[in-house]
Amino acid sequence: MMAAAALEWTILLYFFFAVVGAAVGSFLNVCIWRLPRETSIVRPASHCPRCLHPIRACDNIPVVSFLLLRGKCRDCGERISIRYPAVEIVTAAMALLILWRFGFTLQALFAFLFACALIVITFIDLDHQIIPDVITLPGIPIFFLIAVFAMGLSFTDALFGLLIGGGCLYAVALGYELIAKREGMGGGDIKLLAMIGAFLGWRSLLFVLLASSLLGAIVGIAIMIAKGRDMKYAVPFGPFLSAAAAAYLFVGDWTMRLFFSLRPY
Ligand SMILES: [Zn+2]
Repeated sequence: MMAAAALEWTILLYFFFAVVGAAVGSFLNVCIWRLPRETSIVRPASHCPRCLHPIRACDNIPVVSFLLLRGKCRDCGERISIRYPAVEIVTAAMALLILWRFGFTLQALFAFLFACALIVITFIDLDHQIIPDVITLPGIPIFFLIAVFAMGLSFTDALFGLLIGGGCLYAVALGYELIAKREGMGGGDIKLLAMIGAFLGWRSLLFVLLASSLLGAIVGIAIMIAKGRDMKYAVPFGPFLSAAAAAYLFVGDWTMRLFFSLRPY
């Protein structure tokens, strides 16, 4: 009977985290919309971008309200983007995965904070092709300190992660500009990888760069095929760096064992 009770508590805990995750996702939607527009993230209250009518509290329940309203504003019938519930579901899924990976710990909370930053960066980069400094610049020292003092990363591991993360993309960007005579990688990507390296340690960078490049190449080729052969169609790199960094939270240990067991003798 003890086992059954424990199972019920676990299910309840996961359900609670899914709800909290979706609610945080709802706040991330606000950040994604407002940060690039440099408006306050707390005022005014959420409103429909077309009819400007404030959103009623009962219509502001993550995912559920979208389904009940069938994706339309209650006042003017304007279509609400599927992106809103999508961000809420992704955030809830991250909360559950992190709870599963880190347990009910302080590390889980910080890992979730990191994941939230990546989600906001991903969707802002998709919309505006920029990675806002307002996240990465404070993010670099904050996640560096969290990594060293809460996540158990050594000082040198985090510091080299920060420096190599920023440095190697800077070198790639510089090389690309010299060869192609146009800017390929933005400064935003450089700061993002510095933040990722500071939080996950320098060893993570190999995985993050490989996985994001592979993912970026696959998606880039798919877009080229779908849209015709336009090599200059810019695919923002931030979402791929973010996806790879988030994946590293879960498969990092495993990939590291794999990488470092492949040493040639
Ligand atoms: Zn409206």
